[in-house]
Amino acid sequence: MADIKKVIVIGAGYTGMLAALGAAKRAKGRVHVTLVNPWERFTERLRMHQIATGQKLAEHRIPDLVAGTGIDFVQGRATGIDTAAHVVTVSTGDDSQVFLGYDTLVYAIGSTTDTGRVPGVAEHAFTLDAPQSAQDMAAHLARRDNGEFLVCGAGLTGIEAATEIAESHPNVRVTLLSRGEPAAMMGARARAYLVAALDRLGVSVRAGVSVTKVLPDGVELEGGEFVAGDGCLWTTGVRVVPLATEAGIATDEHGRIRTDAMLRSVSHPEIYAVGDAAAIPQAYGVLHGTCQSGMPTAAHAAENIARQLQGKQLKPFRFGYLHQPVSLGRKDAVIQFTYGDDTPRRWYITGRAAIFYKETVSSSPVKTYGLAKRLAISSRMLATTGGKRNKPVAWGRFGPASFTG
Ligand SMILES: Cc1cc2nc3c(=O)[nH]c(=O)nc-3n(C[C@H](O)[C@H](O)[C@H](O)COP(=O)(O)OP(=O)(O)OC[C@H]3O[C@@H](n4cnc5c(N)ncnc54)[C@H](O)[C@@H]3O)c2cc1C
Repeated sequence: MADIKKVIVIGAGYTGMLAALGAAKRAKGRVHVTLVNPWERFTERLRMHQIATGQKLAEHRIPDLVAGTGIDFVQGRATGIDTAAHVVTVSTGDDSQVFLGYDTLVYAIGSTTDTGRVPGVAEHAFTLDAPQSAQDMAAHLARRDNGEFLVCGAGLTGIEAATEIAESHPNVRVTLLSRGEPAAMMGARARAYLVAALDRLGVSVRAGVSVTKVLPDGVELEGGEFVAGDGCLWTTGVRVVPLATEAGIATDEHGRIRTDAMLRSVSHPEIYAVGDAAAIPQAYGVLHGTCQSGMPTAAHAAENIARQLQGKQLKPFRFGYLHQPVSLGRKDAVIQFTYGDDTPRRWYITGRAAIFYKETVSSSPVKTYGLAKRLAISSRMLATTGGKRNKPVAWGRFGPASFTG
């Protein structure tokens, strides 16, 4: 009988799910895959701003998503990695722990909002990290339907949240506070469209300010100005919990595992890192955390795990960004198309075509899991392969009429 290798995947978010399904499919009969996650419910992080404004989403259970694949699901939180003994400690609640031995480990624990840099954030601000925090924010908005709400950070997450709140709670006065201009990474015309949408929805934008303290009834800005608000959402900056760093695995300044081109840890090659929890070098720099880049990393890690078991040469990972999709409430959106290095192209789409595009993006991971049970999904099937001038692969289906160039 073949020697069955133990693959442990920690984190069953977007990337951990696909890495587990991919490894189980590609190395069937050679591996036993165990997937570890604190909750049974699959968290659709792309839709967290919808939960935070009181929308009811479809529920996907992890055991159902992996049913029939032979993957074991362990509900619990990984609390330690013994890299010498190849054992992960998992806290399963009520002071109980299980110890899972591995031949190969896939690190897919994602990232969380950095609530440690500014005083008061952890105590007084909501985040979009977990369903509970998003549900708490929804309950708050329902109670204060005519209050003042502050959104700190005008990156894509802050913009999606601010527009969603303004649209679903028209009596709430929403203010977006940010150091830089909203969506500074987009091209000028897509950004102008986005700024007009913020204005139409009544979102006040205060750019060029720095929040230095979050209080129960507002925030303090650099220079001492107080901005009143009976609720605050924090979206600026992410970090990875220090699980890998504490285990002595080489990480970067954000706590992400530093990988080689094959997606293996540079210090512990039996550990693969994917998604937001990985610092993956590309020709244009280190990938920044998005689902767009994370899903291909997961498919690629699964492929390399299978290739290693078959004695084949591992393949280097190459990725090029395609788009920056942003919802502007439920009735509008803007999609900025990009070069492989995520700098903006001339093209962007807005309105109905963009809503359809964004919804396709948001629902595609769960659909991909169904497909990954039957097919060996490769990173190339999910993404472009890199290079500043690479051609995006997904435009064709919307036709040139949808584009503004
Ligand atoms: C509101 C919002 C909108 C977004 N929109 C987009 C978008 O349009 N396009 C895009 O590309 N990206 C978008 N992103 C970013 C995207 O959600 C992340 O890049 C993506 O979730 C990363 O996937 P991941 O698998 O690395 O992490 P996650 O999806 O966060 O999954 C990590 C999993 O690990 C689990 N976990 C954590 N710690 C442990 C532990 N110690 N033990 C076991 N399990 C653990 C978590 O519970 C979670 O289930 C958005 C993010 C937000 C918040």
